[in-house]
Amino acid sequence: MTLLWTPGTMGASPLLPLCGSHYPLMLFPLVLACSYSPALPIDTTTLQEDPRPTNIVLILTDDQGYGDLSCYGHPTIRTPNLDALAAQGRKFTSFYVGAPVCTPSRAAIMTGCYPKRVGLEKSVIFPADDHGLHPDETTIAEVLRERGYATGCFGKWHLGHRQGLLPTNQGFDTFFGVPYSNDMAQQHRPAKNGYEFRLPLMRGEQVIEWEPDQHHLTRRYTEEALTFIDQHKDGPFFLYLAHSMPHIPLFASEDFEGQSPRGLYGDVIEEIDWSVGQVVRALERNDIQSDTLVLFTSDNGPWLQFKLKGGSAGLLRGGKGTNWEGGQRVPLLACWPGHIPAASMCREVVSAMDFLPTIAGLTGARLPSDVLLDGHDVTSLLCAVDGARSPTEEFLYYAKSGDLTAMRSGPWKLFLKTGELYHLERDPGEQFEASQENEELVAEMRSRALALDEGLTATARPVMHVDATLFDPHK
Ligand code: MG
Repeated sequence: MTLLWTPGTMGASPLLPLCGSHYPLMLFPLVLACSYSPALPIDTTTLQEDPRPTNIVLILTDDQGYGDLSCYGHPTIRTPNLDALAAQGRKFTSFYVGAPVCTPSRAAIMTGCYPKRVGLEKSVIFPADDHGLHPDETTIAEVLRERGYATGCFGKWHLGHRQGLLPTNQGFDTFFGVPYSNDMAQQHRPAKNGYEFRLPLMRGEQVIEWEPDQHHLTRRYTEEALTFIDQHKDGPFFLYLAHSMPHIPLFASEDFEGQSPRGLYGDVIEEIDWSVGQVVRALERNDIQSDTLVLFTSDNGPWLQFKLKGGSAGLLRGGKGTNWEGGQRVPLLACWPGHIPAASMCREVVSAMDFLPTIAGLTGARLPSDVLLDGHDVTSLLCAVDGARSPTEEFLYYAKSGDLTAMRSGPWKLFLKTGELYHLERDPGEQFEASQENEELVAEMRSRALALDEGLTATARPVMHVDATLFDPHK
């Protein structure tokens, strides 16, 4: 008898190859579900034939926690524009990113794969590093560009900054932003500090400024994003707006600094909320709100060691850099008027690896034909199909060292090293250890986790190392 929880019959195995030829078969249960659900507001077969598929806006924050938005329970940070996205769309309460730190998390978002599968599971990319996401990997931007989308990346990249590794080499027509984290900079450090590196602001593959004033980064990314929307209002477009904030050092513009009762961290989140409002106003102004799926999430949990300068994971335990829920479970809001039910909530497990196959499914874009993906098409969860269950049977948690640390299966989460077991539905804060009453389940989950990791390791693909630099990051 298997003790592993199974979510029902929908979806594929986590390691099923999502080959182009298999994909229509994968959609079949979804289409079937559509025909049995008169409330379903979306017909994916029609969408795939649509000559003008939906625009995609993916807004990503950096190190913002599960508990940092009003609509996720923060008592003093004001996020009216994000709350409006939740009120007009769907709020996810069990959304996971692929890693508890920046680079691997972004690799998972872009590729639909566990970071380990694309060789980026360890730590983050630093200015002196010579590696990045392999150009042979297929990103969301590449999938959509092949479908005829204009693609723009505004903000932080952090998947490689040497020649051939920038957003413009990974499917984006346009890039305006910084290639790595905003703390890999001189700006917040005292004079005559010993830190070797500086932060470039880039347009395309050119450095246009060194050490940009970080007070204005959120506003400048937003202005560029608004221009991109206006330029491509006739669509389709993919806008990836990846804020540098609230990763420390924290900076807000003059309009927001000193305004939030939460202090500077609150100012920063409230400016990001303003930015979200600007994007939504631009969609409204161009009358494309119902033609645009807006997604909002964070790359990992809050950086708790910075205390008041870090965010909050709410009731979740731990934060950035840990595999407690607070490190990898973050807000996800999805808004698409006329397609996603307003003021709805999804408690099923969804992960950042699901973005690529879901977006491909919604837009009729072609998935990479010969590579293993780990994500699933979760259109049925996104659009609230009655009875839809998560296709993610197991979710693997990797430490920033790259090692497998834990696995979630249904409501249960097992930490492999310590043997701690938690029931995440009864105990989302991971306070009440339950392994002694569930020894058989622990053994079975352990062996399943190790087998999945072994399979993933055996099929992992390499990163790209590049000698040629585009700039000298040393100060
Ligand atoms: Mg981060």
